[in-house]
Amino acid sequence: MIEGRIIKGIGGFYYVDTESGLYECRARGIFRKNKITPLVGDFVKISIVDEENKKGVVEEIAERETELVRPPIANVNKALIVFAVKNPTPHLSLLDRFIVLAERENLEIVIILTKIDLDDDNTFEKIKSIYEPCGYKVIGVSNLEKKNIDKVKEELKDNTVVFAGPSGVGKSSLLNEIDSNFQLKTGDVSDKIKRGKHTTRHAELFELEFGGMVADTPGFSSLTLDDIEDIDLKDYFIEFEDFNDECKFGSRCIHQNEPRCAVKEAVENGDIPKERYDSYIQLLNEIRQGKRRY
Ligand code: GDP
Ligand code: ZN
Repeated sequence: MIEGRIIKGIGGFYYVDTESGLYECRARGIFRKNKITPLVGDFVKISIVDEENKKGVVEEIAERETELVRPPIANVNKALIVFAVKNPTPHLSLLDRFIVLAERENLEIVIILTKIDLDDDNTFEKIKSIYEPCGYKVIGVSNLEKKNIDKVKEELKDNTVVFAGPSGVGKSSLLNEIDSNFQLKTGDVSDKIKRGKHTTRHAELFELEFGGMVADTPGFSSLTLDDIEDIDLKDYFIEFEDFNDECKFGSRCIHQNEPRCAVKEAVENGDIPKERYDSYIQLLNEIRQGKRRY
């Protein structure tokens, strides 16, 4: 058997990238019986059935570190959350929603702010001053002036990455700057994404020329928080962590109306950014209203 990684799946065939090339594989029936479906991104062992025609069978699937639903990819380890400083206006509650979704999947998060060539009122510095103290790396990029593309490449190197963020912020442009082959490989990415919404769920991993894999569709196309419990939301605001246990009600404190809440005190003292706390309350209310309706 040889080791490899599934980079594409179409109609029951899995395309497994190995040291000796790409193999078209079926999956062993045993997976179906155990209700395991191989996923793009899975590290697998395959047996070769036909070396000449590069055909094989997926025999074993390694335990997954992470498992995204949208796009359906295993073992993604990092999310690059992309927003523009302008055009469209960055809404921090939307940024925080992406962060919550990525934190929940246990991904490392880097915030990319594009269009810094349009930044005439220092939006980049403002956003950076909120998120860096929380523990997130913030990188400013201009696709137009090709600024800091190298810094983004460093984040991609040897990782399996999903890009996420609203449309129009420059995700496709950035991918094209990062790897000139990307355009060739995918055609027009944004067209493809639009089409993808109406067809079957699609996912594919692309190998970057400098090492690293990137999902060809943006992450978290569904932004719903429906399956998050209100009490768990605070765990996805990582800067609350230092205070969570100091509240009067300990881990049961939801940091909203409780007395002697260490998180609320930290917001007042400026140790937690007010903008983040406001997003937290907004998302919390959304979760609670959603739950009440059903
Ligand atoms: P996506 O929907 O996130 O994939 O965004 P696109 O890559 O399609 O970009 C949306 C629009 O923003 C296009 O018209 C791009 O030319 C433009 N754009 C992308 N990056 C930049 C940038 O860094 N600076 C400026 N000024 N425009 C950009
Ligand atoms: Zn509290």
